[in-house]
Amino acid sequence: MAGNTGAPLLLRLVAASVSVAEKAGTIVRDVFNSGELGVVEKGGKNDLQTQADRSAQECIVQSLSRQFPKVTIIGEEEPTDEVVDESHLETGLSEEVLKAVCPQDLQAVKDEDVVVWVDPLDGTKEYTEGFLDHVTVLIGVAVNGKAVAGVINQPYYNYKAGPGATLGRTMWGIVGLGAFGVERLVPPADKRIVTTTRSHSNKLVTESIEAMQPDEVLRVGGAGHKVLLVIEGKAHAYVFATPGCKKWDTCAPEAILHALGGKLTDIHGNALQYHRDVKHPNTGGVLATYSDHDWYLGRMPESVKAAVKP
Ligand code: AMP
Ligand code: MG
Ligand code: MG
Repeated sequence: MAGNTGAPLLLRLVAASVSVAEKAGTIVRDVFNSGELGVVEKGGKNDLQTQADRSAQECIVQSLSRQFPKVTIIGEEEPTDEVVDESHLETGLSEEVLKAVCPQDLQAVKDEDVVVWVDPLDGTKEYTEGFLDHVTVLIGVAVNGKAVAGVINQPYYNYKAGPGATLGRTMWGIVGLGAFGVERLVPPADKRIVTTTRSHSNKLVTESIEAMQPDEVLRVGGAGHKVLLVIEGKAHAYVFATPGCKKWDTCAPEAILHALGGKLTDIHGNALQYHRDVKHPNTGGVLATYSDHDWYLGRMPESVKAAVKP
C-alpha cells in the first residue's frame, strides 16, 4: 500500500504512476485489439474520445485517488457515473522509483501542494487511424504550480519492429534527479527538423513553422510523442503556435524534458503553470526544444505572437 512506505510522497506518487501508466497502456492495447473503439466526438471530428480514453482514465484516476486520497487529480475526460471496473485498478509501486533519492527540494512535498495532470491517451485521433506509435499515456505531477515529475507510457513503442520486439515502454523523470527509460540523443547538426501537429493545424501553425525555416517538418500526433521526438533527437523543436493543447498534454512531457535539461514554454517563452485553478488550455501555444530555445522564440512572427496570447 502506497501510504505505508517510508519514501517521500513525491517518490511514492511517481512509483505508483509508473505502475498505473503501464496498466493503462495495457488497456489501450486491449481496447484496440477488441476492435470496439467506441468513438465519441467531444468537440467535432478532430476532438475524439474512445473506450480506451475512458477506461485508461478510470484506471489512472481511480487507482491514484484510492492510494492518494488527498492529492488533486485532474484528468482530461469527464468522470462518469458508471460503477468502477475493479479489473482496471492497479496498486503496484515501481521499485526502481522507490529506490531513487528524491531531490532535496521535493522531499517535504505535501498532498495539498500537488496536482496530478492525467491524459489517459494522448493522440486519440491518430489511435483511431492506426498511427499507433503516436499514442502515449501521460501522468504529470505538479508541485506548487510547477511540472516537477512525469511518467509516459508509449503502449505501441516498437510495434513496427516485428513480433520479437518488446512492445511498449515506460519513462519517468523528476526535475533535479533525471529521467529513466528514455535516452537523450542528439539530432543531426546539418539540418533543422521541426515537429508539429498533423490533425490540428491552422494558419498560425503553418506561419510559425515556416518562420523557423526548417529543412524537414514532422507532422505527427500527440504532444507526448512530439516531446519524445525532441528528447530522442528526431526533431530539434516542437512548435505549436495556437491554443488547443491542454495542461494534461504538457505536464508530464515538460517534466521529463526539463529533467534532461531541455525546455518547454509557451511561444513567448513563458513557463507554463499547473496549479489546480489554472485554465486548462495552453492558450500561449507550446515550444519545446533541447537547445537553442531562444532562437526559436526570436523567429516567432510578431503577428503570430499577437494572435496567440498566454
Ligand atoms: P496534436 O499535436 O494535434 O496531437 O495535439 C496535441 C494535443 O493537443 C492532443 O491531445 C490534442 O487532442 C490536443 N489538441 C490540439 N489542438 C486541439 C484542438 N484544436 N482541439 C482539441 N484538442 C486539441
Ligand atoms: Mg492529449
Ligand atoms: Mg487524451
